Amino acid sequence: MRFDIITIFPEIFGSVFSGGIINKALEKGLIEVRVHDLRAFTLDKHKQVDDRPYGGGQGMVLKPEPIFVAVEKIRQNEETPVYLLSPQGRKLDFRFAEELAQRKQIILICGRYEGVDERVIQHLVTGEICIGDYILTGGEPAAFVVVDAVSRFVPRVVGKEDSVKDDSFFDGLLEHPQYTRPRDFRGMKVPEVLFSGDHKKIESWRRRRSLEKTWRMRPDLLGDRALSGEEKKILNEIKTEKKGKSDEPD
Ligand code: SAM
Repeated sequence: MRFDIITIFPEIFGSVFSGGIINKALEKGLIEVRVHDLRAFTLDKHKQVDDRPYGGGQGMVLKPEPIFVAVEKIRQNEETPVYLLSPQGRKLDFRFAEELAQRKQIILICGRYEGVDERVIQHLVTGEICIGDYILTGGEPAAFVVVDAVSRFVPRVVGKEDSVKDDSFFDGLLEHPQYTRPRDFRGMKVPEVLFSGDHKKIESWRRRRSLEKTWRMRPDLLGDRALSGEEKKILNEIKTEKKGKSDEPD
């Protein structure tokens, strides 16, 4: 899978992909990331990429022409989706990332300043991607997030297929807690069940903790997911247990 990132600050990407799983995926050729300097696609001698907004107001706006030219040159074919990173876009979540990973090439346009000329949004892009309800100074950190989250769904990028399946969100729940050595750290002990060697018991403990964490931290996820009879039963038990002990959400 190939990501083409269009930016006015290509140097920002210097080392962001240089470690860990993404770096390995790049080395193995499972993914490819090409970073393009928007200035290289300007047609005027000053290589101007931005200008003042019509109608007045603060800041600068990225001009449409270099962005259109860049996309026309970079796009391998008409099927290639083009996304603008934008706080006004579709929120990036697990499913959206999985959907994007089905593509062979994705073009990501990083906005800056007040954003991009509206004609880019109306007539060029396939969609807009938002990474959260806050405002970044530019689309570059968002592009990095997209490349990272989407790459996890590209086959063989994450070592064991299973570790993607165990991740939070995969089955609509947050992941269960994880522990490693030492067994006793400053008196904080690892739950005994994890040493039982009984895989069924461990699995059931993990499911219970996963449901509990989701109910506590992200109850909205439970509303989006059909629970099995067994899960409903566990959840009711958790709620009853907690009612006695604390004021956590009901
Ligand atoms: N004036 C714009 C608005 O209110 O919608 C915000 C512009 S922001 C300062 C500059 C650029 O950062 C945007 O064009 C976009 O590319 C990027 N950006 C900011 N917040 C973002 C977010 N939450 N998700 C994705 N991209 C974002």
